[in-house]
Order: sequence, then C-alpha cells, then structure tokens
Amino acid sequence: MATGKINVSVENIFPLIKKFLYSDHEIFLRELVSNATDATLKLKHLTTIGETKVEYGNPIIEIKIDKEGKKLHIIDQGLGMTEEEVQKYINEVAFSGAEEFLDKYKDSAKDSGIIGHFGLGFYSAFMVAEKVEIITKSYKDEPAAHWTCDGSPNFILEPSDKTERGTEIILHIAEDSTEFLEKNRISELLSKYNKFMPVPIKFGTKTETLPKPEGAKEEDKAPTQEVDNIINNPNPAWTKMPADLKDEDYKGFYRELYPMQFEEPLFHIHLNVDYPFNLTGILYFPKLTNDLNVQKDRIQLYQNQVFVTDNVEGIVPEFLTMLRGVIDSPDIPLNVSRSYLQADGAVKKIASYITRKVADKLSSLFKNNREDFEAKWNDIKIVIEYGMLSEDKFFEKADKFALYPTVDGNFYTFEELQEKLKDNHTDKDDKLVILYASNKEAQHSYIETAKARGFEVLLLDSPIVSHLMQKLETSKENVSFARVDADHLDNLIKKEDTQISKLSEEEKEQLKTVLEEVIQNKSYTVQLEAMDSAAAPFIITEPEFLRRMKEMQQTGGGGMFGMSNMPEMYNLIVNTNSDLVNEILNTKTAKKKERLINQSLDLARLSKGLLKGEELTNFIKRSYEIIK
Ligand code: ADP
Ligand code: MG
Repeated sequence: MATGKINVSVENIFPLIKKFLYSDHEIFLRELVSNATDATLKLKHLTTIGETKVEYGNPIIEIKIDKEGKKLHIIDQGLGMTEEEVQKYINEVAFSGAEEFLDKYKDSAKDSGIIGHFGLGFYSAFMVAEKVEIITKSYKDEPAAHWTCDGSPNFILEPSDKTERGTEIILHIAEDSTEFLEKNRISELLSKYNKFMPVPIKFGTKTETLPKPEGAKEEDKAPTQEVDNIINNPNPAWTKMPADLKDEDYKGFYRELYPMQFEEPLFHIHLNVDYPFNLTGILYFPKLTNDLNVQKDRIQLYQNQVFVTDNVEGIVPEFLTMLRGVIDSPDIPLNVSRSYLQADGAVKKIASYITRKVADKLSSLFKNNREDFEAKWNDIKIVIEYGMLSEDKFFEKADKFALYPTVDGNFYTFEELQEKLKDNHTDKDDKLVILYASNKEAQHSYIETAKARGFEVLLLDSPIVSHLMQKLETSKENVSFARVDADHLDNLIKKEDTQISKLSEEEKEQLKTVLEEVIQNKSYTVQLEAMDSAAAPFIITEPEFLRRMKEMQQTGGGGMFGMSNMPEMYNLIVNTNSDLVNEILNTKTAKKKERLINQSLDLARLSKGLLKGEELTNFIKRSYEIIK
C-alpha cells in the first residue's frame, strides 16, 4: 500500500471547491459520467485501431445508489487505469486541473456566468462527497488499483482484487448532500445531462411486459421480466446523417427532446458542418404565438452529446433563440463569460453559419412549396421579422421570402407588393403608400372604405411589425406605411386632383367654431376636409407617426423615449362636402345643431371602437329617442 500527499500549493483545495461551485453541485454527476464515457470510447478506439486484442463487447455504464451505506457508485467497463496511471491522471492531471480552475477563477467564480459551464472534472466529486474511492482495472494485464482520498491532499493507493476491466468510482456522500442519494434526484440529473450520451447508462431495472404466449386465456396476466433501465438514447437524431432520417424521425426526436410539448413542430433544419468549426444539431420552428415571453422549452447546447446548458444566448443569434432543438459543438468555449463568448471569433462564425442555414431553409421552403409556406406564415413571421430587424445579412435574404398578407388572405413578397400597388397607391410625390390594418375587426369600417376605393389593405398584426415598417421605410426608396385609420384616404394617398369644398372660407370658420364649442372637452383635434360627398361625414383618425412611435416603444427599443406613456391622440375629420355637415351648418336651432354633432361624433367613435361606458349608454338612449 502506498500513501502520499497530492502536490498542491493550496493546503486544502476541497473546501474551496465546495465554496466556489456552491450553486452548481449537481454537475459532479455529469463530470463522472463523462469520464466513464470517455474511458469506454477510448477503449473502443484502441480496439478498432488494433492496439489491443481485448474484446470490446457491449459496455454500459451503471449508476447505483446505496442509500444505507450513503454511497453513490459510477461503474464503467472502459479502459481502466493502472496504479501508475492513477498516480499520473488522478493525482497530477486531475488535480492540476482543479487547482488551475481555482487560481483562475477565485475572484470571478462567484459572479455566475462561468459556473456550471465549466467542467471541473474528476474533483468535482468532492463537492458532494466527503470521501472518494476509485477501484480500477486496466485493460492492460496489470493488477487493479484502489485509490482513496478523504478530501485532504492525502491519499492512499493500494492494490485491489477487482478482476473485470473498468473503473468504479465510489462517492461517500457528505451530510449536506444527501439529496444525491435519492433515486428521483439522480434520475432527474441523468435525464438532464446524460439523455443523449453515446454509451448506454443503466440506472436500476424496470419491468417489461412480454407478449402473452399463444393460447393464453383472456384473464391470464401477461408475463413480465426485469430488464436494465437504460436512461439514454446513445444515437440521437442529430448525430445521424440527414439522408438517413425521415420526417417522422425528426418529429420523434422532437418529442424525445421535449416530452411535455404536444404541438408538432412546423419544420426542422439539420445543421452539419466540420470546417472551419465542428457543429451538428437540429433546429425546429415551433408554432409561435404573438406572445413574446420567453418560453421554457429552449434550444439545448451539447458538447459531444453531453448536455451543457439551455442558455444559448451569445451562441445562437438572438432572433433564433425562439426556436427549439439542439446544437452540439465541441468548439464552443464554455469556460468564459458570456460577454467574452460574443467576441470570440469561432462563436461569431457559428452564429453566422446558423443564420445562413436558417435563411436558406426558409428560402427553399418558400420556393418549393409556396402554398405551405403561406399557410405557416402566421406561426413563423415573428422569428423572420425579428431576424430582419436584427441581422442585416438575414434581412437581405429574407426580403425575398418575407410575406405581406392582405386582409383578404393574399400573400405578397415585398417586390410583388410594389408591383401590385404601384398604379393605385403611388401618391403625387411618387411615393408608394402601403395601407395596412392591425386588426380586422376593430378597423373594419376603415378597411371597407379603403377597399371600396380600390385600395389593397395589408393585415400586419405581429407585435414587432411597427419596427419592421420603420426599417423598410428607411431601407427601401419612396415607400411609406400607413394604417387605414391614420387619416382619411385622400390625405393618406394624396393625388393631384383636390376636391373642391362646397363651403366658403367664412362658412368653414363658422362650422369649426360650432363644432369646437360642442365637443370642447373631448380632446379631438377638428380637421375640416373637402372630401367626396358620399364619404362619411365624421371620421376619427389616429396619426400614424405618433401611434407607431408609441407602439415601438412598448415592444422595446426604437420609438421615441417617453412616448409609451403619452395619451392617444385623435383627430376628428369632418367632411365639409357631406349633406349632414351642411345640415349642421344650416340648422337654425342650437339644440338641434348640438344633437346632430353629438350623434355624428358618437357614430364616428363607435366605428373606431372608442365609445364606451356612460357615453355609450347615453348614445343608446339618445338613439332610441330618435327612432321613436
Ligand atoms: P478530463 O476528463 O478533462 O481529462 P478529469 O479531471 O475529469 O479531466 O479526469 C482526469 C483524468 O483521469 C482523465 O483524463 C482520465 O485519464 C482519468 N480518468 C478519470 N475517470 C476515469 C475513468 N472512469 N476511467 C479511466 N480514466 C479515468
Ligand atoms: Mg473529465
């Protein structure tokens, strides 16, 4: 038996490890299972290149809880270690890793970020164990070794009588970590970190029901048998070649990844590159609602099939973090802070690769099956619009397939839209005015009026569309967007031929005074307009610019500071050519004048959805009076 002192400068490294990694003790299991996997795959490699004659077989990794003995066992059938190798890899290599970690992160480890993304390796076992044993037998013809360490730099290394090849790690779980002796807790960790690791992992057994033997009676119970409970799928879809997978396989993998998701994904994107960086993965477009709140089923990041995190911020472009799926890359540095990550060259390349792949996929979906793409548009538009706003490269590509639906359910690309609208929607200054509605019900009368005049009206209802319009107006030439209720149509799309007002200047003055008197404290700005005599006498409008700035601020960024708290501003447009307005002007009795104005104003408010509460009640009463 040999005893020794691990050569470290920090006298007692373990309390430090505990303290610094306090928030993330659970990663010890991921680290130990990773080591067991490495050891197994190393042996596989040695056998395939003919370095050794030993039989590789069908090795598994086993996790066992000994609740009474307060022990947790991690057992592998990998290449094992000789006594000499334990000295080298455990006492020197693993320890230097741990020490280096502490040196580097003593000060910064506490400000989150890095913790949990940093594999401390073998020594992370001491975060939960007061004593750790390694019993290991190398694939080489040498005696097994038994290493014991109680958390001080002192260790014992002695021979062992273990005969099967491989390594058993025994953790004597510390008083404050007994949660790791609970079956449920270990199950939870295994399914979080090891669900797709490449070597089968056994955790207990489970009962399997076998088919009934032939001739069995109805009441006979089906036979059962105890089988290994393998918690992982060693060959997840993303590790396979796209050509070997069917649509069903992708859907199946989605369910495996998110067992609590019942909605099917809309489509997937298989990522697969090995130069200039290595990355595989599958991204899914889920059905997204207009709710921008972060959802809990997020993209998961793996490194060589080991789960690392589901916070892919900084690695995946922000607009794609709304997608689901996995990415697996050994090339993403994890031992650094997020801000450093975003500046890292390799990570930048990865992000732009992902953006390109997503854009290409969308583009091919658009080209190959436009009908289907249109049908899915509502569910994917937020991601695309967000991408167009945040990544110029994506904007360039998406500009060719982004769709603009009309209120009647036709979909146009921007180019098609320009072509379609150019005759009717170009104003006297050669500007293309694109009319849109954000709510078909609420803006119904405005939409109908525009359609009656032969205009097309888009339906743009995503929460960030005001930002996109702003962007399109600045990046395209001579284009502007206007919501149908932003002004009356002759003002929205100004043509050469101006309507002649039936009223003289004097009469207009008179009208304005009367109107303002009656509606004085209702905060509408009166605007007299000479319109078609058949157009509505009173219309309430909401100027585009202010409304859009307010909306932009409400959905974050853009807009003008402090605008989200400003009250809505409305104009009251009065059509001086309408018969009713003439009647208002010419009515002799003040009482009747007032009634006509109030009733007309209320009708205009009703059509804009602004008539509510007491005013609505009064309006209804008054209307009954009139029809009596
Ligand atoms: P890393 O895995 O990054 O090399 P670790 O601290 O996790 O660092 O492990 C240190 C070394 O100990 C490994 O490189 C390996 O040589 C050895 N080792 C750890 N666990 C096992 C095991 N289960 N079987 C064989 N060797 C192991
Ligand atoms: Mg390791």
